[in-house]
Amino acid sequence: MLETVSAEAVVAETVKKGALYVVGTPIGNMSDISERAAYTLKSADFIAAEDTRVSGLLLSRLGIKNKLMSCREHNIVSKSVEIVKRLKDGETCAVVSDAGMPCISDPGEVLVRMCAENNVPVYVVPGPCALTAALAVSGLDTSRFSFEGFLSTTKKRRTSHLNSIKEGRQTLIFYEAPHKLKSTLADLHEILGDRKIAVCRELTKLYEEVIRGRISEITELYETKKPRGEYVLVVEGAPKPPKRVKVNKYMTKGECKEGMG
Ligand code: SAM
Repeated sequence: MLETVSAEAVVAETVKKGALYVVGTPIGNMSDISERAAYTLKSADFIAAEDTRVSGLLLSRLGIKNKLMSCREHNIVSKSVEIVKRLKDGETCAVVSDAGMPCISDPGEVLVRMCAENNVPVYVVPGPCALTAALAVSGLDTSRFSFEGFLSTTKKRRTSHLNSIKEGRQTLIFYEAPHKLKSTLADLHEILGDRKIAVCRELTKLYEEVIRGRISEITELYETKKPRGEYVLVVEGAPKPPKRVKVNKYMTKGECKEGMG
């Protein structure tokens, strides 16, 4: 654990009893754990973890001993009921997922909602998140974006999802698994057109890579390259429609064309 600030002082200041802490953890590089995340994991009464083995490794790297409770997608409702009851009794819980921010394509949302509905305070200890990391290095427009999560594995649902967002000007962000990368690129090309894309792989890890280009160029590249690791795809929004020009009878042909460009 980093020793620049007194751990006890921060714990006393920041960790409140009877509250839930939503704690972000690294998406690859373990040095991305924040001081506050470490303090919170240390001082909570227990930690609700997506996978207790994965979080156990993180805790041992940080030299922290604490109780871990398994809180996976399939048991999240019953576990959330149990956790809310314990928080109401005055305990403090930190919730973590395997990597990044809980609740973002990871368990946690149900627990947060249940806490909110039961007037249990919820605090966030923000940390790394693959979608914002990818957007930041994409080189694409960051002023407006929408996070689309994972596209469905069924062709029909993928197609209808992409059709529902194809007109939006905002940058689009998708999570993707390596075995689905090529078919997703094909669907993106077919439905959204040959837009600019940043393919962000293994961010913060040893084989971190960001490839920027048109969807067709990346598709060609992956004809010979095997997709490996974790991917975020950042795709530019729909192009602006051509400007409408009011044509009047005194305009020359050239002026009409220029206005339309
Ligand atoms: N909660 C996580 C977050 O805050 O980003 C996301 C969890 S989701 C189950 C896992 C997906 O996130 C991966 O399949 C991949 O699309 C993306 N991802 C996670 N870590 C990544 C990394 N280091 N580089 C690129 N993508 C990553």
